[in-house]
Amino acid sequence: MIKQILFSVSLLATLGIFAYSVNKYYQYFKLTRSLPIGDYGKRFNMMMQVAFGQNKILRRPVIGLIHALVFWGFIVITVGSMEMVIDGLFGTDRFLGILGGFYSFVVGSGDVMALFIAVAMIVFLYRRLVMKVKRFDGVEMSHKAHNDAHMALTIILLLMVSLLGMNTFYVAEKTLAGEEIVGVYPVSQFFAGFVGNADVHLWHEINWWAHILLIFLFANYLPYSKHFHVYMSIPNVFLSRLEPLGQLYNMESITKEVKLMLDPNAAFSGAPDDGGEVERFGVKDIEDVNWKNYMDSLTCTQCGRCTSVCPANITGKLLSPRKIIMNIRTRMEEKGAGLIKNGKDFDDKKALLGDYITAEELWACTTCNACAQECPVNINHPSIIIDMRRYLVMEQSAAPSELNTIFQNIENNGAPWQFSQDDRLKWTDELYMNA
Ligand code: SF4
Ligand code: SF4
Repeated sequence: MIKQILFSVSLLATLGIFAYSVNKYYQYFKLTRSLPIGDYGKRFNMMMQVAFGQNKILRRPVIGLIHALVFWGFIVITVGSMEMVIDGLFGTDRFLGILGGFYSFVVGSGDVMALFIAVAMIVFLYRRLVMKVKRFDGVEMSHKAHNDAHMALTIILLLMVSLLGMNTFYVAEKTLAGEEIVGVYPVSQFFAGFVGNADVHLWHEINWWAHILLIFLFANYLPYSKHFHVYMSIPNVFLSRLEPLGQLYNMESITKEVKLMLDPNAAFSGAPDDGGEVERFGVKDIEDVNWKNYMDSLTCTQCGRCTSVCPANITGKLLSPRKIIMNIRTRMEEKGAGLIKNGKDFDDKKALLGDYITAEELWACTTCNACAQECPVNINHPSIIIDMRRYLVMEQSAAPSELNTIFQNIENNGAPWQFSQDDRLKWTDELYMNA
C-alpha cells in the first residue's frame, strides 16, 4: 500500500509538471501565424514511411539502422512502461501478462531491444565524446547544446540498464521461489544466472523504482531538451508540407493586391474585405513565423544532417540551416513569455532577424532544398529563409544590389534584363535584312 501511495504521488507530480509544459508550449503556439492543412490521407502515408518506416534515416545503412532500431525499440518498450503505471497504481504484478502470447512477444522483444539500445547509447556517446563527428559541431552548437545531448543519451542508457536489471531480478526471484515467470526474457534470463546470493527482491524493487522514476524524469526533461523530438517527430512528419520541395507559396496579401491591380473592378465588386490589420510582409520576429515553423524548431534533433549537405555552409558561408531552425526555438523562449505577459505590443528591442539571424546568412542560401531533403523529421528550412528574405525585400528594401537591379528592370522593362521593351524585337531586324 505504501508503494502505491508513493507511486501515485510521483505520478501526480510528473503529470502536473508535464501539464505545465504542455500549457506553456500551447501559449507559444498561439502567438504564431496560422497555416492551413489538409489532405490527411497523403499525410498518413508520409508518416508511415518517414516516421514509422524511418526511410530517410535508413539512407545511411549502418548508423541509420542503429537509429531506426532504437526508435522501434522505444515503441515496444513503451508498452512495458504503461504496464508499470498500472502495476504501480493498483499494486498488481505484470498485469498485462493476461495478454498471454502477445505479452510474451512484446516483453521479449523489449528485453532484447533494451540491450540493443543500451549498446547503441554507448556508441552514440562514443561518437560525440571521443570520435567528435564533425556534423555535431558548428557555431550554433554551444556547450549547453552538447551537454543536453550527453545528458539525454545518459538518461536513456540508465533507463535501459534499470529495465534489464528489473527483468533480471524478476526472473531470478521467480526462479528461486519456483513460481511461474510471466512473459519471456531472453537477455535477462541469461543475466539472471549471474546474480548469485543477492537479495533478489530488494534489487528488483530498486531497479523497478529507478526505472519508473527515470521515465518520469525523462518525460519532463524532454520538452526542454533537443530530445523533444521523441514527442514531436511523428506529428511533425504528419504535418509536414506536401508540395514538391522548391515550390514557393504565394503571399495571400500580395496575391490580393495583384488581383486588384489586374482587375480594379474587383475592388468594388463586393469581394469581402477582411478589414483586419495589414499584416507584416514576411518574417521579422517570432510572432511572424507560422505554427509549422515553430513546430519544426521544437522537433529539430540537432543532428546536423541539413548543415552537412548545405552547399553554402560547405563552401565556407555563414549559413547553417540547423542554426536557423534552432534560433526560432531560442527566440520564442526569449520573447514568448514577454508577449504572453504584456500582449502583442511587447517589444524587447531585439528581433529574430538581425539579432539572431543575419541578412548575410539568408542571402547565402541557394534554395537548393538539400537541407529539407535530408532532414529525417521533414523540417523545411528554405520556407522560413524565404519568408525572412521577403521581409528584407518588401519592408526594408534591403535586397543585395544585384537583385535590386533585377527588380528595377522588371518594373521598368517587364523583364529582368536591362533592355527597353521597345528594343525587344530588334533581334529580328537582321533577319528581315537577310530575307
Ligand atoms: S536550401 Fe539553402 S540552407 Fe538549405 S541546403 Fe540549400 S543553400 Fe543550404
Ligand atoms: S533541421 Fe533536421 S537535419 Fe537539421 S539538425 Fe534539425 S533534425 Fe537534423
